[in-house]
Amino acid sequence: MAESFNDLIEAAIIATKNSYSPYSHFSVGAALLSRDGKIYTGCNVESVSFPVGICAEQSALAAAVNDGKRKFTAIAIYSDSGVTPCGKCRQALAEFGDMWVITIDSKGVKKDLTLSKLLPDAFNKI
Ligand SMILES: [Zn+2]
Repeated sequence: MAESFNDLIEAAIIATKNSYSPYSHFSVGAALLSRDGKIYTGCNVESVSFPVGICAEQSALAAAVNDGKRKFTAIAIYSDSGVTPCGKCRQALAEFGDMWVITIDSKGVKKDLTLSKLLPDAFNKI
């Protein structure tokens, strides 16, 4: 990895505490780092109508885009099992180019990946 993302990882862990996941009991937190150094966090928000829920990654992405950000360096994602982003989130993030994807589990095990490795040949109509 090109640089240390300790602050980003810590922000993802803290964001997990806000997770609203009464159905799955699977809490996820994400922290997205914009190229200008600002961190945007998100958590998963479930709904009784399951498709209505939103993933932590998209929650963080919405916060960043809403603040005018369009370029990102990395996203850190924390969950008990250290999951990688789902397919929908991979595509949503790919809209804004490649970035580091760091996953962390409850034992502190990290995986450093890139979005282009997780989603090669992402859909792009341009
Ligand atoms: Zn997702």
